Amino acid sequence: MAVFDGEHIRFSFSQLGNALGKAVTPTPLDNGRLLTYNAALADELGLTTADIHSERFRAILSAEAPLAGRKPFAMKYTGHQFGQYNPELGDGRGVLLGEWRDDNGTLWDWHLKGAGKTPYSRHGDGRAVLRSTLREYLASAAMKGLNIPTTQALAMATSDTPVMRERIETAATLLRVSESHVRFGHFEYLFYSQQHDALGTLADYVIARHFPELAEAEKPYAALLQEIVERTAEMIAKWQAVGFNHGVMNTDNMSILGQTFDYGPYAFLDDFNPNNICNHTDYTGRYAFNQQPAIALWNLSALGYAFTPLLESDVINDILGGYEHHLQVAYSKAMRDKLGLSDAQQGDSALFNALFSLLESERVDYTLFFRRLSDIKQDTLLSANTLNQFNDLVSDVDTLTEWITDYHQRIAHLDDDTRLACMQTTNPKFILRNYLAQQAIEAAEQGDMQPTHNLMTVLASPFASHSALDSLARRPADEEKDMTLSCSS
Ligand code: AMP
Ligand code: MG
Repeated sequence: MAVFDGEHIRFSFSQLGNALGKAVTPTPLDNGRLLTYNAALADELGLTTADIHSERFRAILSAEAPLAGRKPFAMKYTGHQFGQYNPELGDGRGVLLGEWRDDNGTLWDWHLKGAGKTPYSRHGDGRAVLRSTLREYLASAAMKGLNIPTTQALAMATSDTPVMRERIETAATLLRVSESHVRFGHFEYLFYSQQHDALGTLADYVIARHFPELAEAEKPYAALLQEIVERTAEMIAKWQAVGFNHGVMNTDNMSILGQTFDYGPYAFLDDFNPNNICNHTDYTGRYAFNQQPAIALWNLSALGYAFTPLLESDVINDILGGYEHHLQVAYSKAMRDKLGLSDAQQGDSALFNALFSLLESERVDYTLFFRRLSDIKQDTLLSANTLNQFNDLVSDVDTLTEWITDYHQRIAHLDDDTRLACMQTTNPKFILRNYLAQQAIEAAEQGDMQPTHNLMTVLASPFASHSALDSLARRPADEEKDMTLSCSS
């Protein structure tokens, strides 16, 4: 199909030369076939249903055919994993196929995950399994629906290629789409391998492609680092507000666009547990839910260190010093939105702290609590009926009553319709609970994609009611909660 060869295809990253990777020949899947695709995203990119169902797209997705006759590119990066520098990283099982230029002129990287071995595969097989690709497919759609910056997934292929993990699984691919695949780890690689000219070239490329307005700044590299710090702080604030635990915040999994990147053993909280750990290899809780704000700063500091050939240290430190403030501003705003508080007041922190201590001590379902609160009008807040609505979530009725009374007083002067509208578009009815992802995976492994389609429907607009799919918003049973997942993917 000409659409995959012609005016839409670009290779802007080739401006970087070979400093950041190698051209590779992917290893096709055996009997690769389209498993599912994101129709809304296809449409946004300007792809028709016929394009997606074409033989050519199937071949691209199955690692059989390149874009516009160009060999794909495996990118080299390094990074800090669990605090330790690892020089051996890179695209070990993914390749950059090229860039798709949409009708607005925006370039989207097309990255095929699971395309076979590359020079950076180390001992890995270069494959991704159906289970992990479907988890990424669902999670990136969930984050998009929640208005949280994220990479996206256009489509997945399944195959007859067996892959050995803890058991034999099916090899799959995922076509990841993002304006950028540049990670903190790309800068770290060029810094630690002493390729300081290439470091400047990469920074220039990132500025020209993603932040052209920064080229006019007095110190463009300082403006770039500042932008990354601010975006990262905003992303983290949104994760904390919605209850998202990434699980593997290594610096190679951090995007310079401040997008949620590389979905591994992530979790959306069921019960509110600030110490939640979702990665079973995270023995110390380094990447626990409540550690994420501090870890992001640690990662930004690693990036800042890699910027030392480009900028004076005191400039870097000043920029990093601003992280906390950006995080606080973004987090306070996100939390006020959850309670529908359109203005800021002195006692707000105390109101939040009291609520979080109740949610934590009672292990309250985080999503359901805020969603139910979002439907209660001010004049009924203090009624017995309100308390009844929480009786399956909270047993300490006295503390709940006390908090609701304070909240009632706090919102007395606010317009109630505005408050409720804000809360109902901030607090999702549907989130991607781990057990729901697991059910979709088990069905997909049996060839049934309906649970995936149902989840995609609610996750695309998680604030809407979707009454026919209400069961996807129910409170999970105890055995469905708190699954800890391995990184094996
Ligand atoms: P991840 O845990 O997906 O962030 O991957 C960490 C590093 O391991 C990256 O360099 C990956 O490319 C590499 N990697 C992960 N799984 C595989 C695999 N099955 N084959 C080759 N490399 C892999
Ligand atoms: Mg990674």
